This record gives sequence, C-alpha cells and structure tokens, in this order.
Amino acid sequence: MNFLEERISKDGLVRPGNVLKVDSFLNHQMDVQLMDQIGEEFHRRFAHKPINKILTIEASGIAIACSVARCFGVPMVFAKKSKSVNIDGDMYVAQVESFTHKTTNQVIVSKQFLGPEDHVLIVDDFLANGCALQGLISIVESAGATVEGLGIAIEKGFQQGGNLIRSLGYPLESLAIVDAMDPETGTVHFRPQN
Ligand code: 5GP
Repeated sequence: MNFLEERISKDGLVRPGNVLKVDSFLNHQMDVQLMDQIGEEFHRRFAHKPINKILTIEASGIAIACSVARCFGVPMVFAKKSKSVNIDGDMYVAQVESFTHKTTNQVIVSKQFLGPEDHVLIVDDFLANGCALQGLISIVESAGATVEGLGIAIEKGFQQGGNLIRSLGYPLESLAIVDAMDPETGTVHFRPQN
C-alpha cells in the first residue's frame, strides 16, 4: 500500500451511497504534510511534461492543487462555482454536476488566467463519475490550452469516471483507486498499482 492508501485504510469512513469520507485528513481538517506528499508524488509522475499551470475546482481540490503547484513552481488556478446566470464574455464556463450534493453548478475561470500558451495539469481530490474533470477539461480546451495530464488523489474505480477519462486518451494518474468499499464493515479494497 502507498502512503495515501494506508491513510485511507486507517482514517477513511465508508458511508452509504458510495461515499468515502476523508474529513479528518483531506476534506475538512487537512493534514498538510500529507498534502505535501501528494504534491511531491504528482510532481514525480508528471515532471517530464511541460506543465506551467495547475487547475482545480473549488473547494476541496484547492489544498492539493496548491501543494502540486508549489512542487512545480507554477501558478494554481481554481474554477469557481457561480450561481450567476449573467456571466460576461470574460469567463470560460462549464456545467458540473456534483456527485456529493446532487446539484448542478456553473463553474467559471477568468480568461485572464488561462490561454493558448498554457500546459495544464488538472488535479482534484476525488474522481467518481467524472463530471468535475470533464468540466475542467472543457474549460482548458475552450481556452485553447493543452491538458498535459490529470492527477487525482482518490479514484472510486467502481464508478465510471476513470474509464471515461482514460478512454478519451487523457493521461490520468490516481494515487489510490478504490475498487470496492463496504459500509457495513468499513473495509476499503484498493486496485493493485505499480
Ligand atoms: P465526479 O464529478 O467525478 O462525479 O465527482 C467528483 C467530485 O465529487 C469531487 O470534486 C469530490 O469533491 C466529490 N466526491 C465524489 N465522490 C466523493 C466521495 O466519495 N467522497 C467525497 N468526500 N467527495 C466525493
């Protein structure tokens, strides 16, 4: 098991409805040393790419994205959730359905902060059905920028997002892939990875 799988096994809580709660170290209280380790691991995996920007979505991707950005020495941009329908032409916009809240949010990134010169690593805390990543990919592509890769802390491999994103040909790296979890016993099974 790698460092993140070990931490999930120790402190993650399995909830009904295919939800894994990691509030004690990733989503609410944050273990910043763990964030640093996550940042270093994504840097190791994507160091060969010409990445000059990290992109995530608020709120829970931000801490991980900061740590990744620090390791690459590049800026981090987060897509903001916006209720406003009157978005002016200065923004890239995507619709993102939230797996945890069952709502649809409009997410926006200012055209000031993303453009054709950018080579982007997209990062997020979780991958479930892939809506958040698809929204971020569509924003990068609207900007004429290049998606160099996607880095996810925890992929729920029994949901469709991972297969979807990989089948589109994007390089996707997930530090922990959960293949099954049992709310009765609290056990989490990880997909073996190299
Ligand atoms: P997707 O768009 O891939 O369906 O879901 C990804 C987003 O939903 C992530 O940004 C994450 O915040 C949230 N999410 C999805 N599944 C879980 C889960 O099991 N636990 C937690 N804490 N968040 C989740």
